[in-house]
Amino acid sequence: MAIYNPKSLKAEEFINDEEIRETLRYAEENKNNLPLIEEILEKARPKKAEKGYVCAGLSHREASVLLACEDPEVIEKIYKIAEEIKLAFYGNRIVIFAPLYLSNYCVNGCLYCPYHLKNKHIPRKKLTQEEVREEVIALQDMGHKRLAIEAGEDPVNNPIEYILDCIHTIYSVHHKNGDIRRVNVNIAATTVENYKKLKEAGIGTYILFQETYHKESYLRLHPTGPKHDYDYHTEAMDRAMEGGIDDVGLGVLFGLELYKYEFAGLLMHAEHLEAVHGVGPHTISVPRVKKADDIDPTEFDNGIDDETFAKITACIRLAVPYTGMIISTRETEQVRSKLLKLGISQVSGGSRTSVGGYAGYSADERPHDTEQFDVSDQRSLDEVVRWLMESGHIPSFCTACYREGRTGDRFMALCKSGQILNCCHPNALMTLAEYLKDYASEKTQEVGYKMIEEELKKIPREKTREITIEHLKDIKESNKRDFYF
Ligand code: SF4
Ligand code: SF4
Repeated sequence: MAIYNPKSLKAEEFINDEEIRETLRYAEENKNNLPLIEEILEKARPKKAEKGYVCAGLSHREASVLLACEDPEVIEKIYKIAEEIKLAFYGNRIVIFAPLYLSNYCVNGCLYCPYHLKNKHIPRKKLTQEEVREEVIALQDMGHKRLAIEAGEDPVNNPIEYILDCIHTIYSVHHKNGDIRRVNVNIAATTVENYKKLKEAGIGTYILFQETYHKESYLRLHPTGPKHDYDYHTEAMDRAMEGGIDDVGLGVLFGLELYKYEFAGLLMHAEHLEAVHGVGPHTISVPRVKKADDIDPTEFDNGIDDETFAKITACIRLAVPYTGMIISTRETEQVRSKLLKLGISQVSGGSRTSVGGYAGYSADERPHDTEQFDVSDQRSLDEVVRWLMESGHIPSFCTACYREGRTGDRFMALCKSGQILNCCHPNALMTLAEYLKDYASEKTQEVGYKMIEEELKKIPREKTREITIEHLKDIKESNKRDFYF
């Protein structure tokens, strides 16, 4: 039997089934142990440091106890601490991105995804480089600066060279004042060699959802294709890091397996990356199974309600305070509103989840034929930006860290010392100003400029504030763009 070892490079040792089961037993036994729970909550609370705040985070066992606890007062405390952590490290900023689907050709048999090989009624499509250009122009015209590219696994139709060409095309398009400044990549598990190539192409974060950490379920849900190999998939982030990619993004698809199991597995994966590479995941995504062509989410009997989903999000926030958390347009405006307070730091906006879903369509038109899942939040980017501001959040299009080489452990070191706060806030305001000037509706501009005025006062260092004001003036009065700290 495999023995739990977070430092091991073998999937069954760092995501160890016995350790997860033991964790769930421990959590169940202690879910009403209030003295222990108070101790865990105290550990999770952000503490004032010389510069900003520090947070200890929680182990998978500690966080699992909180997740198991059903006491409404404790849950309220968890939510409150999640909000405190969110404010301490991310302030009221929310980073915005959009997905770009390149190809839905896929040789895998994932039971929960409409792109699975056996789905014969979905049209298959792969963007040409000219079509990638058109999509990027449409995304730039919406105001996006940060993309997550998505493609099925298909060595013939979507080889790594195709992905690299697309990345190159995306970075090369500069339409009007538009610019895609960070391309995150969500493609299938691959080799160290290919990760090196992605790194050289200048990608931001490499994102790969585990889908489920439960090996038996994983094998059943991925009956055919290369993705069937649980170990190869689970060890992908180690290969990505070996290939030089510093920022990796984890995620599970909630609804496939029992959420408490997934939660413990996810945190053990984060602990493993920290133990082996000295840096935890850059982001964690929390998608839930959604309806799509050939997919009925009720067929998966582990669906979770909105309350449980909120609790999971808050507990992740307590466990890994320095990791960005992403919520997509899979979720409704209501759910997104609630989760923003509990630790989410990135949202997508104006998203299309079909191949070629942006170019040639107006804000309220969306093609459904090649959609990967139903988009619940169908608002335009302008509406999402205004909604964020009206609920007190600064929409940020910032991509500064990755371009300044602040990735991996350098990013984490800055983040942990509270220094990142000196950059994020002014960068958020300057990129928001670019958005307002170049792409926003009048109504959104009005809300936005007022917000910038108010938020400027919060920049603590006078010099930084002065420079920011200078740059804001440049953005408003000229076509000078792309200022950052
Ligand atoms: S989840 Fe990914 S690998 Fe699986 S069928 Fe869909 S596109 Fe292919
Ligand atoms: S300065 Fe860095 S951490 Fe802050 S918003 Fe920009 S990219 Fe993110």
